[in-house]
Parts: sequence; C-alpha cells; structure tokens
Amino acid sequence: MTDPTPTPGGRRRVAVVPHTHWDREWYAPFQTFRLNLVRLVDELLDLMEADSSYGHYLLDGQLAAVDDYLEIRPENEGRLRALAASGRITVGPWYVLMDEFLVSGETLVRNLQKGVLRGSTFGGVMEVGYLPDMFGHVAQMPQLLTQAGMAHAVVWRGVPSAVDRTAFRWTAPDGSSVRAEYLVAGYGNGAALPEDAKQLVRRLAALEEEFASFLPVDGPMLLMNGSDHLRPQPWLGRVVSEANEAQDEFDLAITSLADYLATTSDDGLVEWRGELRSGFRSNVLMGVGSNRVDVKQAAARAERSLEQLAEPLSTLFVRADRWPAPFLDLAWTQLIRNSAHDSICACSADDVVAAVLHRYAEARHIGEGLTEQALQAVGRSMATAGPVVVNPTARDRSGLVDVIVPAVGEPGPDVQVLSERSGLPGSITLDGQTVRNMLGLLQGARIDDQAFVTEVSLDEDEDEDTLVVSLVIGPEPREGVPVEEVKRELFTRLTARPETQVRLVIDQPPIRRLLARQDTVPGFGWSRFTPAPLAHPVRLEDPAGAGPTLDNGLVSVAVDPETGTFSLDGLAGFGRLVDGGDHGDTYNYSPPTHDTVIDTPTSVTVTAGASGPVQAGVDIVTTYDWPERVDGDRHSRTGSRPVTVTTSLELRADESFVRIRTRFENPARDHRLRVHLPLPHPAATSRAECAFTVVERGLTAEGRPEEFGLPTFPSRRFVTAGGLTVAHEGLLEYELVDISDATDGTGPAAGTLALTLLRATGMLSRLGMSLRPLPAGPMDALDGPQLIGPVDVRYALSTTTVDPYAMVDEFLVPLQVTGSFGGGDRADRGSELTVEGAEVSSVRRNAGAVEVRVFNPTDAATTVHVPGRSGWLVDLRGRPVAPFEGAFPLRPHGIATARLAD
Ligand SMILES: [Zn+2]
Repeated sequence: MTDPTPTPGGRRRVAVVPHTHWDREWYAPFQTFRLNLVRLVDELLDLMEADSSYGHYLLDGQLAAVDDYLEIRPENEGRLRALAASGRITVGPWYVLMDEFLVSGETLVRNLQKGVLRGSTFGGVMEVGYLPDMFGHVAQMPQLLTQAGMAHAVVWRGVPSAVDRTAFRWTAPDGSSVRAEYLVAGYGNGAALPEDAKQLVRRLAALEEEFASFLPVDGPMLLMNGSDHLRPQPWLGRVVSEANEAQDEFDLAITSLADYLATTSDDGLVEWRGELRSGFRSNVLMGVGSNRVDVKQAAARAERSLEQLAEPLSTLFVRADRWPAPFLDLAWTQLIRNSAHDSICACSADDVVAAVLHRYAEARHIGEGLTEQALQAVGRSMATAGPVVVNPTARDRSGLVDVIVPAVGEPGPDVQVLSERSGLPGSITLDGQTVRNMLGLLQGARIDDQAFVTEVSLDEDEDEDTLVVSLVIGPEPREGVPVEEVKRELFTRLTARPETQVRLVIDQPPIRRLLARQDTVPGFGWSRFTPAPLAHPVRLEDPAGAGPTLDNGLVSVAVDPETGTFSLDGLAGFGRLVDGGDHGDTYNYSPPTHDTVIDTPTSVTVTAGASGPVQAGVDIVTTYDWPERVDGDRHSRTGSRPVTVTTSLELRADESFVRIRTRFENPARDHRLRVHLPLPHPAATSRAECAFTVVERGLTAEGRPEEFGLPTFPSRRFVTAGGLTVAHEGLLEYELVDISDATDGTGPAAGTLALTLLRATGMLSRLGMSLRPLPAGPMDALDGPQLIGPVDVRYALSTTTVDPYAMVDEFLVPLQVTGSFGGGDRADRGSELTVEGAEVSSVRRNAGAVEVRVFNPTDAATTVHVPGRSGWLVDLRGRPVAPFEGAFPLRPHGIATARLAD
C-alpha cells in the first residue's frame, strides 16, 4: 500500500467541488423534481452573490438544468449568466447526463453539441467530459471528448479492477485518449459536509485512510460536495476556512473541477483501452438494457427516423433554404432529453416512462413527416411519371418494394401481386342531393390508401341542363388538386338550383399492388421503379407431414412442427423461447431462489404464408403456460397464465438473412423471456455494435458480492458471435450461454446466444435480490415495467458472412417509395451524394453547409471517398481540422466530420 503521508511540511491538497447531481426525472416526474430545482438555484444565486467564499458551483455538467430553471425564472437569467461568465458556476458540457449504451452514437454527439451551443451564451461550457453517474462508458468516449477539444474525463461506474488509482489514461479504439479522473467513492464522497471544522477534518482523515491506496503520494484529494438533488450548504466557505486554520494535514480549497484537473499529473497513469463496464467497485446496473423493451424500441425507431431518414433525405432532396431546422431541433431536443440515464434506462416512475414514450413518439412523428415531405419533393422533381424508389443510405442497394402500378398486361415472373383493382371508367347521372352527400364524404383528394383524386373539373352541359363533374383517380396523391374548390363551386350552384342533375364522369385505370425487388438504387440516390430479375427467388414448400421450408438459395429455413423451432441453413434449434422468473428490479435481473423455466410449448401450429417468389413466410403459433408471478415469500414462481406466441418468419428474394417477428399478449409478471439462438461454431467472444464502433467482449463480466458480474451485454443494432449475426430493433441485451470447454483445448466457449425479448419486473428497486442485495434506488412498486399487454419484437438472423452494417440497413431502413406525375427535370436515376470507404453516421445541414459524419469500425486504415466534393474536416465543435478534396484518410476506428463546400 502506498504511504499516504504527505511530504514533510506539506499538506495534502483537498479540492472541494460543490455540486448537485440533478436527475431531471427519475423516481418522481420532471415537473416534481423541477420544483426542487428552482428552489435550489434560487438559493444558490442568493448564496453565491452574498458569499464570495462560496467560490464555485458545478451545475452537474448539463445545460438542461439551466434551461429548466430559466423556463420558470426567466428574470434571473442575467444573474445566472453573470455567475457563469465569471467562472463561479460551471455549466455543461452536456445538455443532459445521458446513458451511453442505450442510445445511438449520433445522440451522444448531438447532446454534446447542444450543450456546447447553449453553454456558449453563458460564457462557455466546462471543458471536462463529466460523466459522473452513467451506467458504464462506451469505448469511443475518449475520441468524442478529444474531438470536442477536451483532455479530461471524470468517471465513476464501470472502472475495472485494473485501475487502482484515482486517475488513469483512457484510450479509445482509434488511439485517442484522455486523462480520466476516477471518482473511487462516487460523485458524493464529500456530500453533506458537517458545519463543524473538527468534524470535517475527522471526515477527511477517514476518507484519506479508506482510499489511501488510490491516492497519489502527496497528490491532491478530490471532494465532491454534493449528491442526488442535494442543495448547497451555505456554511461551506466558513467551515473550509476554519478547517484550514485548525490543522496542518490538509489544505482545503473550494474550486472548480476544471481548475482542480489542471493541477493534476499525467505521470505514471495506467492505461485502459476501450469500454468501461466493470462492476468490480460500483454497480453498472446492466439490467437496464432489457428493462422496458417498449422504451428501447421507441428509441431505436425515433433515432432511425431522424438520423437515417429525415435528415439525409431533407439534406439531399429539399432546397437548402427550406432546411427544416426548427422541426429537427425540436425533435432532437426530445431525443436528447430522453437520453438522460434515468430516462432511457426507464429505471423510473411510470409517469416518467410515459413522458419518455411520448417524447419519442413526437420525435418520430416529426421525423416521419419530414421524410414524407422530402419524398414528395423527389416525386415533384422527376421528369417521368410513375413510382420512384429512394435509397436513404450510403450503399448502392436493391431491395423489396411495395408499389402500385397500372395493371397492364401480365405481371411477369419476378413480382408478387398483392391485389388488383379493376378500372372504373364510366359516368353516372345523379340528383344534386346524392352528389352533395357523396362528395361531402370526400376530405381533400384522398379516397383511401390506394386511391386519390388526381384531376377534377366542373363543367356545364347546356344541352342537357346538367353539371358535369369529371374525376381522374390514381394510386398516388397529387398536390394542388382543387377538390375543395370544385366542391364549393358545385355546392353553390346546387344551392341556387337544387333541381339540377349532375353527371359524374370517373376515370380510374386498373391498378395492381405488387411486391418486387427494385433494381440497384445508388447510395443517397433515386431510381424510377424498375423490377429486377430475381437471382435468388424465394420458395415456400409445405409438404404434408413435415414442417414448411423457406429457401432462396442463400438461406434455408425449415420449421420443426413438433417444437415450434426452426433450422437455419441446416442448424436446428433456432427460436426456442425460454421463460424464467425475474425477481429483480428495473436495474438488475435476479432469478428467484427456486426458479421454474418454461421452454416447451403446450401446442404448436404452423401456417404457411406468402409463397414467393419475392417474399415468403411462415407463422409459428405456440402456446405455453407461464407462471403468473414470483411469490416473494417462497422465492418461487407461482400460478399459471396461458399465452399464445406468434412467431413469423419471413424470407425475401436475394437476401441472406431471415426476418423474425414475435408477438404475444404478455399475461405474466416477474419474468424474463429470451430467445435462444444456436451458434454455428462455439464462441469465446461476441462482437457488438456500440457508438461508432464494434466492441469485442468475452464470456464473463467483473462483479463483486454487491452486484454479480452478469455477462449480459448491450448491443445497439447488431451482435455477432460464432458465425451468427443478429440484427434487432431495440432488443439491446444479449448473453452468450451454454458454455463448455472447447474440445480443442482453447478454453471455454458458448454454444448459444440468448437474446432478451422481455424482462418484466415490478419494483423500481428492491432489497435482498440474489444478484444485487442492496437497493440501487427507491424501493417503489411499479406497474409499468411488468409490461402486461402486447409485446411485438423483431430481429433478423444470418449464418453467412454478411457485413452487419449493410444487414441492419437492409433490415431496418427499407428503400422508400413515392409517386411522381412527372414534369420536373430530375433524371430517371442518379445520386445526390456518394460516400464510400466508411460507415455514415449522419448527413445533415449544419451552419449552412452539408455535413457528413463517418466512422471506420474496422482495424484497418481506410480512405473515405466523397467524389466530386471538397471542403473541410471539422471537429465536433465545427472547428476546421484539415481541408480535403474528393477523399480523406481515416484511421482504424476513427470518426470524422466533413463539411462540404457548395
Ligand atoms: Zn443520476
């Protein structure tokens, strides 16, 4: 153990950083906590203005606290600004203190950028990557901080046993690194300091002794004077000064985190490379990844609708002066608020989770609306009429589209007809009142999903003394059709002459709705609908006495009608649903002492669906008797609830993966449902997508008696192991199971990947759990996390070597279809932007320019090609780094942001 005694004559410096940790919403809703926040900041402003000895205050590293306060006290903006500008109150750099694993990398970046932008009006943000309470940290965080110009991080949870000092060098996969200050005892090691100087010194001595081995000899000690929702202690300045006079061991100073870190040393720091997910010294609360799967699905959908659809499509196809900045800012604010650790983790009151879901829905509604507007802009600009297919992603792609086309001739061998509607040419003469009633039902030009009035006119047939309404009906909506004007004019005339007859002349050509595989569409481009010949048509076979099979020559699926599982490319046992008890809480899975695991259905019914050649499917309906709940006294599952689970398998032509959707009405409490997926080869590691890279993990996780090291890990959209790739929508938690020693002596390896579909619990936190005995939050009973009601999840599987990033795009970001009436000047096929050589994280307009963010998830250096475009690489604060012309190099695991010249 290192001798903590200071050098003779020296006193150990103690940096006191007053702060509060402000969970914006958690066990109480936002508005409830905000009442306390307003009181806190009111007191803080009075205190700091009156007492200069209360030198600094850290407003929790998140600007949301400032905005939430000023919304109620706008009159105090000047006071807050003055204290911030003078450096006495530090704000930012984040907008909220997020969770890093459960949201996208882009959300992490936008959170930081929003914090920095907002903080600039308060004299700038704290230049420290303050991450006090996040439930672990992503591997790329040091790179994100470095690209925002920050050399320091401050962390607590997730730090592994290999780090045994109060600081370490934390290195991202690309080699960027920051000095990380490790809050060994958390962000509240100096919370609630005594008013009495002698007591304060005794507390310091005890702390010094307890953490002696972590402290550098002669080095300073950081005392974080605050904790969850704590208010400032008005006696702090006095007691610090009295303590300094009363003894010679410690030299206390109230300071800011940045000032303290500027005095620390980088010498001899141990290096840690990659993510921080250890439970060796503090809880990482890994069960939040599977808590409230509905929230995780909503997050995935909302992020995708902005990042992969609304932003790129508006950038590419909407005029620069119509860039929908206010809508996108609003949507991103909702996403960023939801990324707060207690919000996305949903370890919160039911009212909080309802608010989170509502924010995600609003963000998604904006994203979907802007996507539709951008697609309509493509339709208007096309030279030729007919369906247009738009590729919102960077790779050239073909893929399944669902289009409506005129029913002319035979449909051809490479498409699948979903429905046909015969034409409606002809005319009918009716009395005025009937026509008035009929047209009164018509709202705008829409008749139904597949029929829209595309032309309308009103004429007079003087010979017959009749009004003539001519309607052309087509499969796509058309802007500017004067339906309401014609209705008004007609109704006016009918009111003047009620006896008038009206002839309705309707021209509706026959149409056909079909599935086809669209021929390749360039990345970030478009093409007129062109059905491709199917290289690998999919076939459904349903032999009597055996289960149905799906096969496209790339993937084969065979359903076992006995077990309800299926084989994939000859490997049996996929889709086994394993339901066990969960007597844990929103933070951690914890099985009851006497668990009952149900993995065998009581009945299986298999039904063949669509039979190809573009798309084929099978429904597997299984029934089970799941125990009703966990009896807390007996620590076992009790009761019985019947449940019917429908698992739909879908295979498409020319795709090398199978899509799976599982639906049921969850009838039971206190349980965890996982789907077991056999691995083609035993695996000692898994590779999972996290922010801006793929991270590799082993079979175990560090823990301690207070939190078992459960090796359930998060993946954002995909995970690969043992030759299996799993893509999913919001099913963030996986675990490698069925572990045994490999026959070749290479050590333990897993045979199965378990993907969590649902984790249903009834307590925000709980005491005495088998895997985490102490509570991690208030022990409040909750109804929401039981998720009684509909559950509907989807994922996709491949056992062939696929690029998982391409697979998630194909699975989750379909080609978009819109209609055109022609008359514009856009060619039949083309691209607005080409980006090759790296994954694209973002395409948007920023500061008036098109900005593209890319990352290289591989171990090899790459060249990113942006043919025909030049501009500047910028950092995450928009500051120029280097010019480029057509291409730029990108290091392994590097992230780069390119601002394109016009
Ligand atoms: Zn917190």
